[in-house]
Amino acid sequence: MSLIVQKFGGSSVRDAGRVMNVAGIITDTWKAGNRVVAVVSAQGDTTDDLIEKAREINPNPSRRENDMLLSAGEQISVALLAMAVEKLGCPAVSLLGWQAGFKTNSTYGNARIKTIETDRLQAELEKNNIVIVAGFQGVNKFDDVTTLGRGGSDTSAVALAAALSAKSCQIFTDVDGVYTGDPRIVKNAVKLPEISYDEMLELATLGAQVLHNRSVEMAKKYNVNLEVLSSLQRIPGTKVKENAGVEKMLIRGATRDNDVARISIVGVRDIPGVAFRIFSRLAAKKINVDIILQSVGRDGTKDISFTVARDHAAEAVAELNTLKEQLGATEIICDENVSKVSIVGAGMETHPGVASKMFEALFDAGINIQMISTSEIKISVLIDIKDSESALKAVHDAFID
Ligand code: ADP
Ligand code: ASP
Ligand code: MG
Repeated sequence: MSLIVQKFGGSSVRDAGRVMNVAGIITDTWKAGNRVVAVVSAQGDTTDDLIEKAREINPNPSRRENDMLLSAGEQISVALLAMAVEKLGCPAVSLLGWQAGFKTNSTYGNARIKTIETDRLQAELEKNNIVIVAGFQGVNKFDDVTTLGRGGSDTSAVALAAALSAKSCQIFTDVDGVYTGDPRIVKNAVKLPEISYDEMLELATLGAQVLHNRSVEMAKKYNVNLEVLSSLQRIPGTKVKENAGVEKMLIRGATRDNDVARISIVGVRDIPGVAFRIFSRLAAKKINVDIILQSVGRDGTKDISFTVARDHAAEAVAELNTLKEQLGATEIICDENVSKVSIVGAGMETHPGVASKMFEALFDAGINIQMISTSEIKISVLIDIKDSESALKAVHDAFID
C-alpha cells in the first residue's frame, strides 16, 4: 500500500469549515487505498497571535519558553483535524512532534531535525489510522520542545515523507502552485507546472514563502516527490523535482525579501585581516551575512557593507561596536529600510545579458540599486524598501509576459 504525506498550512485550516474541507481531502486519499500522514500548521494567524501574547508579557522571552508557547498552535490543529476525520467516519490519531519521533538539535526557534524515530508512526499506520502530525515542532536531547523556524511545517512534512519513504509529499496551501512571482503582488504571475529543486531552493531562500527553504533542501537530498497545490481547488499544482524542463524560460521566477538590513562600517583601515575580523566575529555569533560589498581603498581607509536578516541587525551592530576602535572605523550605519529583489532561473547560466536586462528594467522604473550579488542561477539587488513592490513587478514583467 502506498503512503502519501499531505501538509496543510494555516489558511487551509483557519476555521471549522476549512478543517472539514481538509478532512475531506485526507479521507478521500485514504479511501482510495493509500496510507495517509497529514501534517498541519497552526490555524490562521495563531502563531503570530501567540508571539504577540508573549510580547505583552515579556518582549525578550527565553527561546525555550518561546518554543513552548509557539508549539501550542499546532496542538490545537491536529486535535481538531482528528475530530473532523472521526466525524467523517474514518480512523484517525493526532500526534505532537515528540510523539511522532521528531528529534531535533537545541537551536530553539530554528531547530534542525536530526532524526525521526518512526516506530510509533509505523504502528499507527499498521492499525490503518490516518495519522495527523503537528508540524513545526520536535524535541531536543533534554526532552524540551523545539520549533523549526517560521514556515517550518513544510519541512516537517518533507522530513516525514523521506523517513517513511512516502510515494509523494503534497503541500496544500492557499495558492494552486508555485508562480513566477508572488501572486498577491504580481498580478500577471504565471503558474509553473514544474520547477527544479535548485530553482525552488533559491526562490524560497530569497523570500518566496510558499515553501520553507529547508523543506526544499531536504526534498532534494532525499529525492522526495514534492508537489505544491491548492487545498480549495482540486487541480494539479506545481511539481518540484530534480530536472524540470527549462523550455523557453530564461528565468523561473522573481521574488523579494523585506526581512533584511544593510550594515555599513565606514572608514576602516585598509590593511589585511579587517574583513576576517569582522566576519569571524559575526560568524561566532551565528549571524548569517549575505551580500558583501567593499569599497576601493582611499587614503588608507575603506568601507565595508553587508546585509543580514533584519532581526539580527541590532545584535550585529552591537558586536561591531565592540570592534570599532580596533578596526579604526569612524561610523557603523544600519539601514533597515531596504529590500532584496531577486530573479532565479537555471536558464540564465547559458544566456548572457540577463543581468543587464534586469538592471534596465529597474532603471526604466527609476529605481536605484544599492548592492548586487549573483550566483549561477540567481541575481539579487538591494534597493530602498519603498521601491520593493514596483521593483518586483518591473523585473518580473521584463522576463515574463
Ligand atoms: P501556508 O500557510 O499554507 O504555509 P504560506 O502563506 O506560508 O502558506 O505560503 C503561501 C503564500 O506564499 C501564498 O499565499 C503567496 O502569497 C506566497 N508566495 C510568495 N511567492 C510565491 C510564489 N512564487 N508562488 C506562489 N506563492 C507565493
Ligand atoms: N505555524 C508556524 C508558522 O506560522 C509554522 C508553519 O506555518 O509552517 O510559522
Ligand atoms: Mg508556509
